[in-house]
Amino acid sequence: MIEPQHFNDSLFSFIRQSPTAFHAAAIVRDALLAHGFELLDEGESWELKQPGAYLVIRNGSLIAFRCGEGSKLSDGFRIIGAHTDSPSLQLKPRIKAKNKGYFQIGVEKYGGALLHTWFDRELSLAGSVAAFDNQGAIKTCLLDFKKPLLYIPSLAIHLNREANEELKINVQNEMVPVLAQNRIKSEEQWQELLIEKLKEHYPETDFQSVIGFDLFCYDPSGPAYFGVADEFISAPRLDNLLSCFIGLQTMLDHAEGSCQPNTMLIFTNHEEIGSTSSSGALGNFADMVLSRICADPDTAGRCRHHSFLLSLDNAHATHPNFSEKSDPDHQVELNRGPVIKINSSQRYCTNAQSAALFRVICSEAGVEHQNFVMRSDMACGSTIGPLATAGLGLTGVDVGAPTWAMHAIRDVTGTLDPELLYRSANHFFKRDKLPSMDMYMSTGATLW
Ligand code: ZN
Repeated sequence: MIEPQHFNDSLFSFIRQSPTAFHAAAIVRDALLAHGFELLDEGESWELKQPGAYLVIRNGSLIAFRCGEGSKLSDGFRIIGAHTDSPSLQLKPRIKAKNKGYFQIGVEKYGGALLHTWFDRELSLAGSVAAFDNQGAIKTCLLDFKKPLLYIPSLAIHLNREANEELKINVQNEMVPVLAQNRIKSEEQWQELLIEKLKEHYPETDFQSVIGFDLFCYDPSGPAYFGVADEFISAPRLDNLLSCFIGLQTMLDHAEGSCQPNTMLIFTNHEEIGSTSSSGALGNFADMVLSRICADPDTAGRCRHHSFLLSLDNAHATHPNFSEKSDPDHQVELNRGPVIKINSSQRYCTNAQSAALFRVICSEAGVEHQNFVMRSDMACGSTIGPLATAGLGLTGVDVGAPTWAMHAIRDVTGTLDPELLYRSANHFFKRDKLPSMDMYMSTGATLW
């Protein structure tokens, strides 16, 4: 068994190196490549072997799969799904002209960010940048400034006496990060700064000019423990890098054996903005990969029927100061293990059968589980679970680590929770066969 602190060290390192979805997908790719996975190109013909381990990457999303020795494609895949993106502030293309002596860059809200948490802290900048090299070719590169670069100062209480009574935030006017006072004086100098940073990252390429970017603000201060006994974790992007890390670790630790199940990771970008994109869970990425793995329709049908999705995304833990916001009969606590998420409108993909399967997995792995259901008088959030199971025709369950302050610039979970979730995910991949999923017994009805 891995010690929770040791497990968290690796999780913290993964979070530090993944400031954006593009970085998260690239880190997962590199880890899998180092463990023998082969990178597939969507534009080339695929010649897949069984056994074999492969991965495909598409704009911040990644799908990896292992066709296990002794298994057939018609046996289906055990799949862990998660999203790579987190709520953030995305930079607008053009720098704001010098404003009252400062250079600033406008931002758009990315996803359902809790905006007030982005004020009064150092922010760094990372993402994907497209630039011309000296041959005139467009290179798309990852960029991470890694240092505090931007800041959004609050208005002092003396200038807004109602600040603690009313909190309305206008992103256009009030959340324009300050970038510089004297170092940057024009749009050209901003471009030069980006080129300088690109050259630092990729010294072998002679970049000429930037022609596009998807850059995001992020909290560079990294994860930390808090509490008298270090019983809590505060970290940026725990939603949903925690789940991506657990999926990755489970895939890497998947035992080499004579009989292995087929396994898969589906990590998609753009969940926080609704998943409608070519790499999002409502796009065709996963469907396309599964179709190319199983070209024969009969095998494909059996493969999907026998597959099972463990959709991992953080779950709301009951907040001690706002306990009335949680269903009183379904309290969720930090450090009490994975949370099965249930919703009658299928905002989560869990059903009786899939919840039962996950409960058996937890029980065998010696892990306690919890149940989350939204209060009946409040609207429920969602995950990639319903989108992926509906789009691919799979059975699945929505599960996550208990979390406070979801969508704040830093979320909180229990120190034990990542390792507890990992243990259940690991058993899901390792169990010899999944518990029988036979549907309904005879009703005994005699209607005709
Ligand atoms: Zn999430």
